Amino acid sequence: MTPTRSRPHLPLLAPPRTVLAALALAAHACLPQAALAQDYPTKPVRLVVPFAAGGTTDIVARVVSNGMAAALGQPVIVDNKGGGGGAIGSLEVAKQRPDGYTLGMATVSTTASAPAINKKIGYDPLTDFTPIINIAATPNVVAVHPSFPARDHKAFLQALKANPGKYSFATSGNASIGHMQMELFKSLTGTFMTHIPYRGSGPALNDTVAGQVPIVFDNLPSALPFIKSGQLVAIAVAAPQRLAQLPGVPTFKEMGLVAVNRMAYYGVVGPKGLPRPVVDKVAAAIKRTAESPEVKKRIEDTGSLLVLNTPDEFAAQMRAELAVYQKVVETQKLTLD
Ligand code: GLU
Repeated sequence: MTPTRSRPHLPLLAPPRTVLAALALAAHACLPQAALAQDYPTKPVRLVVPFAAGGTTDIVARVVSNGMAAALGQPVIVDNKGGGGGAIGSLEVAKQRPDGYTLGMATVSTTASAPAINKKIGYDPLTDFTPIINIAATPNVVAVHPSFPARDHKAFLQALKANPGKYSFATSGNASIGHMQMELFKSLTGTFMTHIPYRGSGPALNDTVAGQVPIVFDNLPSALPFIKSGQLVAIAVAAPQRLAQLPGVPTFKEMGLVAVNRMAYYGVVGPKGLPRPVVDKVAAAIKRTAESPEVKKRIEDTGSLLVLNTPDEFAAQMRAELAVYQKVVETQKLTLD
């Protein structure tokens, strides 16, 4: 009888390559984050846009994402998570591991206007994120559907004053810069309009162009094509001076509304605790692409200014902007109810 040799259930000796891979993995897990950051990125990077497609946040993210991917050597996937005036997508970024694989677009709405008024927003814009770079500052615009009985700011004010509560305005969401600035406009001009919030400027613009809502407050990059095509009529812009793109349209400052004359901004942040080497790599990738003549032109053609500041400068800017909106909320006694 030949003795039966029982086969071991598991190989006693793992193939050497598997052992090495397991050791490497274990060693990797023990490495400090800064060391891991040297290899970053080794897989695709998700860039959360906390507004719907078609708005300026989405436009800026998509304009830089290809060049950013080329510079980082990994795909950059733009992920639209609209809602709550940008709060939903921003909260999602704040909750991720600070490994650089989830980044988010940060705007004046998500870092200043919304946190200033929404006490239940769920994140602190100054401590729950790592600022990376502010990409661009954009003018804002109030525009109307061509059926609205006004073509300029004087007639616009007259129409509002003669019909309190008759008109509504669309914005990119509750507590967004559009919402906040229009509440400020109402308070300073003694007018009344009803706010209609959307998941971003994309859908807000669509409904205004379709005539569902007569007025929209938006950032210029997304609104400009509709103004140029005559589907919307620009009434006033928030910009330091009149824009080459809309020379006939006055600034809010010219209307005597200096407080409404504030630009919007679009930057990139990570969750808090993002290692500095990751911050520097992402910032350098964005800077490189935004400074390329083609991307620079695409951004500047919308009346926007490239900012491309340092993480510390961006942090200071967020702090200052939050303080501005906190003051607006306090002095105008604005509430979300
Ligand atoms: N108005 C928003 C902001 O400045 C962005 C709107 C959008 O991208 O839909 O934060």
